[in-house]
Amino acid sequence: MAEDAIQEQLTVLPPEACPLQTCVGRTLQQDVFAERDNPPFDRVCMDGIAISHAAFERGARVFRIETTQAAGAPAVTLRDGANAIEVMTGAMVPKGTDCIIPLEEYDLDGDVVSLKTQATSKPSRNIQRRGEDSEPGVAMLARGVRLGAPEVATAASAGLSHLTVTRQPRVIAISTGDELIEPGQPILEHQVRRSNAYAIVAALRDRGYTQVVDDHIPDDEQTLTQKLLRHLSEQDVLVLSGGVSKGKFDLVPKVLQKIGVQQVFYQVAQRPGMPMYFGVGPDGQAVFGLPGNPVSTLMCLVRYVVPALLYLSGRGRAPIQPMPLATNVKVGKATMAYFLPVTVRVDEKGAPSAVPAPTNGPGDFLALTRTHGFVELPPQSEPFPAGFIARFYRW
Ligand code: AMP
Ligand code: MG
Repeated sequence: MAEDAIQEQLTVLPPEACPLQTCVGRTLQQDVFAERDNPPFDRVCMDGIAISHAAFERGARVFRIETTQAAGAPAVTLRDGANAIEVMTGAMVPKGTDCIIPLEEYDLDGDVVSLKTQATSKPSRNIQRRGEDSEPGVAMLARGVRLGAPEVATAASAGLSHLTVTRQPRVIAISTGDELIEPGQPILEHQVRRSNAYAIVAALRDRGYTQVVDDHIPDDEQTLTQKLLRHLSEQDVLVLSGGVSKGKFDLVPKVLQKIGVQQVFYQVAQRPGMPMYFGVGPDGQAVFGLPGNPVSTLMCLVRYVVPALLYLSGRGRAPIQPMPLATNVKVGKATMAYFLPVTVRVDEKGAPSAVPAPTNGPGDFLALTRTHGFVELPPQSEPFPAGFIARFYRW
């Protein structure tokens, strides 16, 4: 299988230290331990008053407020056990108190609190005790996790300003073809807009990869050779589009071989995207030659390049997203997998299914704007019934 053949050639990128603000989406390459107890002190959970439960037990329902305990201030002490201290959520529990009565349960007149009849008291009411969530030194995050918002918050709470994470892959999207013209430049009838490089960069930036650049190379052997040599020396991953079919000007596989890229496979039993190429550079660079048709380019990118980048980032195999077909589908060929664009429909019960939305052909990427991604249908000539569970890939 092409995905396995690619992964076998890849080595996870080395770790680097990064400021916490830039770590989201990266893979953690260290363990994170709790700096302190969590919560670090007995913490007030509601705005209200702190009292001694013993006073309530003795029948006290009216309290004089001695002072206010704000979040961020050291704990004050209740001088007279029959009084109360006004407290704010997140503050330390004042010494001499053990119950927080929320402000909905009393009336306040000046500095005198009168409890309403529904007010209740018990020890530790609305108090989170020190160390209740975790103790210092406990493992909070393990190597290998993706750093989402909760993980970044956890690292911040552990006092870490920097984390060791996998280096971001350096990727270049390279379009090839003499017919291609940059957006913003005048265009003639026989020319084509250079949309693929934009699609590749967009799909990767959308997934959080920041080290993504692009270039364009005409169908000229010498220029291809020079430029690809330079890109190989600077990048971890080359994503070429176009120039991998069997036409006279499809020079990419030949030039890659000349500059020392080892071919791993050339052609995959899939539609679209059959001519896809994959090879490995002299220093382990991953080199993808995607067919130039825009629909094929994007499908091959999402199906193969995106999982490879995840793997390089230390996240192992990309998770499979199963999705049932919403209708019967007849597309199969016994020898080839089929990538079918779909929109995802969610029924009244919240269950998703894939509604086929075929394009007019491999150049019809406008049709993809009305889809969420595609499903991969395995080689099979019989129709696929509604409910068939396929693998879904989102754009
Ligand atoms: P190729 O794989 O080079 O034979 O290209 C196949 C088809 O895709 C041709 O019609 C090309 O003009 C088109 N194509 C190739 N590269 C791009 C690109 N970067 N943007 C848009 N269309 C492209
Ligand atoms: Mg071409």
